[in-house]
Amino acid sequence: RQPEQLPDEAVRQEYDRVVDEVRRHRHAYYTEDAPLISDAEYDALYRHLEELEALHPELVANDSPTQEVGGEVSAAFAPVRHLQRMYSLEDVFSLEELQVWIERATASVEKLGGTQQLRWLSEVKIDGLAVNLLYRDGELVRAATRGDGTTGEDITHNALTIKDIPTRLSGSNVPGEVEIRGEIFIASRGFVELNEKMVAEGKAPFANPRNAAAGSLRQKDPAVTAQRPLSMFVHGIGAREGLAAASQSETYALLREWGLPTSPYFKVLENFQEVLDFIGHFGQHRHDLLHEIDGIVVKVDDFGLQRALGHTSRVPRWAVAYKYPPEEVHTKLLDIRVNV
Ligand code: NAD
Repeated sequence: RQPEQLPDEAVRQEYDRVVDEVRRHRHAYYTEDAPLISDAEYDALYRHLEELEALHPELVANDSPTQEVGGEVSAAFAPVRHLQRMYSLEDVFSLEELQVWIERATASVEKLGGTQQLRWLSEVKIDGLAVNLLYRDGELVRAATRGDGTTGEDITHNALTIKDIPTRLSGSNVPGEVEIRGEIFIASRGFVELNEKMVAEGKAPFANPRNAAAGSLRQKDPAVTAQRPLSMFVHGIGAREGLAAASQSETYALLREWGLPTSPYFKVLENFQEVLDFIGHFGQHRHDLLHEIDGIVVKVDDFGLQRALGHTSRVPRWAVAYKYPPEEVHTKLLDIRVNV
């Protein structure tokens, strides 16, 4: 039976069951670093929850998983309040949905009185975990995981062991205070070597690079983190004081100047067709990259427009994550492309 045909009590029961399931899997994934199901299965479950809520908006509570950033703060780490909230990303699972999203964002900008040509900063979605780095007067003050978006976990000692995270920013125009958001990941080659080492030591190998990165960063003992091949690319900025940049792409140039690594896989694009070509290119080459990806993130480049579009309680309205279909239907991507 379709959800809308169920009697009220049955709908409520089904809804509660799905909410509990999503929470259980989020806990396993974010807190235990040990997912019980694949990401595709989780995404389908989450979609089901969104559909139930669309059909029965009266069921949606403020603490529904659809209204919150997914992670938790484990008692194993000191809590850290982010100066500016961290968000998740809205997902789309087809190029048609992406087109709808882009048209909607464009219409919102026009409604807000924006007249300039929208530019889309597109980059690969790194399959790692988010980190928030706070620098004051150029010095790294602390590093935290995303947690629930408001409060993260203090992993400063572990971050200090990662070579891609500078303890001091270099170059000119370093702001007095700045939060830098990045993704910690394990490169594909490093992942194979790490698992070989784990097996040689009689330990269980990691299921995938994302789990390995999360499990390695969220260690009680920084000496363990130091032995793991962790890397980072930065892809955003939070609270800032005196930042001389008007767009995401200008900020990336500054971040590099300060000694922070940005992804080699990003481009500022002018229209939807260019975004489609970018998605098609990385769909074909996703296994040739330094690290695993689970999609493409498309962001409005201009900071003024980002501010005007704002956020929901969970995601920015100026960015979206396109998720590639499961590998076996990859070749279809190109067929869809010509039809869009
Ligand atoms: P998300 O990972 O889909 O998107 C938000 C995050 O993307 C950001 O916090 C950021 O850290 C990251 N990101 C990577 N590259 C980026 C880039 N270039 N620019 C900006 N951000 C970038 O959202 P989420 O809410 O953290 O988690 C949902 C994801 O986690 C889904 O992929 C889901 O399948 C998976 N998940 C799986 C399970 C499971 O049980 N298997 C459970 C929960 C979540």
